[in-house]
Amino acid sequence: MEYNEQLMDEFGPEKIVVTWDHRTQTKGILVIDNTARGPGKGGIRIQPDVTIEEVFHLARAMTWKNAIAEIPFGGAKAGIVGNPEKNKIDMVRAFADRIRSLVPREYIAGPDMNTGAPEMAAFASEIGDMRACTGKPKEIGGIPHELGSTGYGVAEATEVACKHAEIQLEGATVAIEGFGNVGTFTMKFLSEKGAKVVAVSDSQGCIYNEKGLDYGKLLNTKWRQKSVVKYKDGRVLPKEKLFGLDVDILIPGARPNAIHEGNMKSIKARMIVEAANIPIQPEVEFKLHSRGILIVPDIVANAGGVISSYVEFIGGTDEDMFKLVREKIRRNVDLVLINARRDSLTPREAALALAKERVRKAMEYRGRI
Ligand code: NAD
Repeated sequence: MEYNEQLMDEFGPEKIVVTWDHRTQTKGILVIDNTARGPGKGGIRIQPDVTIEEVFHLARAMTWKNAIAEIPFGGAKAGIVGNPEKNKIDMVRAFADRIRSLVPREYIAGPDMNTGAPEMAAFASEIGDMRACTGKPKEIGGIPHELGSTGYGVAEATEVACKHAEIQLEGATVAIEGFGNVGTFTMKFLSEKGAKVVAVSDSQGCIYNEKGLDYGKLLNTKWRQKSVVKYKDGRVLPKEKLFGLDVDILIPGARPNAIHEGNMKSIKARMIVEAANIPIQPEVEFKLHSRGILIVPDIVANAGGVISSYVEFIGGTDEDMFKLVREKIRRNVDLVLINARRDSLTPREAALALAKERVRKAMEYRGRI
């Protein structure tokens, strides 16, 4: 397992731990990027090809996301090099055992690709401390994903950004890529705010009706018939067509790199809110910004999930979660967009500058720089 030392900078990573479990024949990787603001927080993914470098990039993204969300966590991430079809609970328990001396003082886990509530329950029980991770089942103090913290935050971010883009959210037309956890709740909360969601896609295709789609009916269709394309009252389009629709607001909420050189020219939306992680290639994001499209970057817009983790960590309630997500997302989206305009930066550049400033300040207080 090679690590590229050129990736190291003033912020981190502070620790890279590689573990081995003979019984499950699995390697584990933990990258604690920066703990100046608090214990490194980040999920555990199980994948056969996960590498130190990938885990490092994800850990660094957590350092920034947690700083922008203003929660007292640093950044970290973990990966188990294993087959997710095999016994994940055993792999997670073995990994927890190897890194126990760091949990929860320097590392707090959470779910990520191929891990969920059962794995988090196993992780916390192995460590013997419920503060070892978030994303636990409700029965042992978790705040369920099904409450939709991320989609709720995306809707709040959209509302604040609309003021900056001079779009009236009530009646504004919206297209959402993806109808999973993030996409469904984004539609729910935006519909409640009076926005008109006219298009939604999933892996099967896109459903479009310029008069608007009904959230309850669409959810029911997806639940019963497994795809949004079965929705009766709309036109079915190839899923790629969603990005070129004539809408005010576009919300990529499914895949990385969904918006790329090949489809960027077709985009007509005046505003893009990034609900998925890295849904736009960086150079494409810059070009779209130069065309005057206001883009709310993922590290600001989709932080509802990490804010929810913090509320779970401090033993808060579901209501506390909604309140904190609303407060923090609204304040920080506003701040990032104001700074971007003031300093002639893209919103992503402004968000990163804000994150770096906050992390640096914490490092100074701790005598690290
Ligand atoms: P999910 O698995 O619940 O849903 C994914 C959805 O995307 C499904 O509806 C699927 O059909 C759809 N999809 C797959 N391929 C598609 C395609 N080619 N075109 C259109 N739709 C497609 O996932 P999720 O939890 O909703 O996460 C979505 C994205 O948001 C991911 O990038 C994830 O990393 C990111 N994210 C999620 C959270 C969270 O709390 N769930 C937080 C931050 C970021």
